[in-house]
Amino acid sequence: MSSDDTLDALPSWLEPSLSGLLALRPSLPHALLIQGPRGIGKGRLARRFAQCLLCESPLADGRACDRCDACGWFVAGNHPDYRQVSPLGDEDAGGERAERTRSERTRPEIKIDQIRALAGFVGVGGHRGGRKPVLIDPAEGLNLPAANALLKTLEEPPGDTVFLLVAAQGAPVAPTVRSRCVPWRVPAPPAEAARVWLSARLGADQAAQAADWLALADGAPLRALALAEPGAAAAHRMLMQAVQEIPETGAMRIAEGFGAQAAPLWVPLLQSWVADLARVLAGAQAQRFPGQQAVLQRLGQRTRLRRVAAYGSWLDQQARVSSHPLNPRLYAEDLWLRYESLFQR
Ligand SMILES: [Zn+2]
Repeated sequence: MSSDDTLDALPSWLEPSLSGLLALRPSLPHALLIQGPRGIGKGRLARRFAQCLLCESPLADGRACDRCDACGWFVAGNHPDYRQVSPLGDEDAGGERAERTRSERTRPEIKIDQIRALAGFVGVGGHRGGRKPVLIDPAEGLNLPAANALLKTLEEPPGDTVFLLVAAQGAPVAPTVRSRCVPWRVPAPPAEAARVWLSARLGADQAAQAADWLALADGAPLRALALAEPGAAAAHRMLMQAVQEIPETGAMRIAEGFGAQAAPLWVPLLQSWVADLARVLAGAQAQRFPGQQAVLQRLGQRTRLRRVAAYGSWLDQQARVSSHPLNPRLYAEDLWLRYESLFQR
């Protein structure tokens, strides 16, 4: 097994970005905002950069040696001069979980207590005398109180603390946080590198579908890999079948199956499908389902762009406010009945 096959190896398309980050070292800013398309590995890049900063016998180009004590601690997740802050999972959220279920808002957030907990870390000198990276991923996960709590430290981090904030392109990072960071842009991977990386991970029997998954993920390889995982792939198969059957088969029957699935697995797929339907109606090529151009054209003949665009906007709104609906069955019925109505005269 080559080192590229290990779980945390940096994908090849991120190496130039790592070189660029390493070149900043002589005058490293207090805070970097690492931004780029969703699902291309920005978090991995930032973690690898943090490891390079902590490595105690780096290579000539600044890359981590993967051999020293510091590298060992980092990989084991217990380097004393490193902190990573990410939204807590449901299992860690305690009493807040019930509240969020009530409001049907489950976008995971970084909370103020997590930022306050950093005070003891940034306030004292490092254990090893080097830089102390703090990774915040994703930066758009900071809720308002957490973002406000972070501001002062971001402005003047004591000692050798370096903040590495990671955010998806276009994600709503608090402007007060953004303005205190030096922006660092990570480009999308070249199509061929993405395809090779994904094919190697899908296994021989699925490698042929790599292009389909990449199209659905807007070319982002890590996102494509997540879409190809069994649960997500099953939702994809269900969607493909549903859009072949509606409107001939009643949406109520279709909705039954989707009601048993987690909404985040299938609603984004339906959003993508509807966006492609609108594209085809506007005379363009399908972008996320290029193999379904004929189906989209056939459906397009039975509806109007205006109706599809209105449904698409409504769907986007639904997905934003209700990613984990209280009643998944009713939610699925609502979405699919409205979808079906696109094709009724
Ligand atoms: Zn090392």
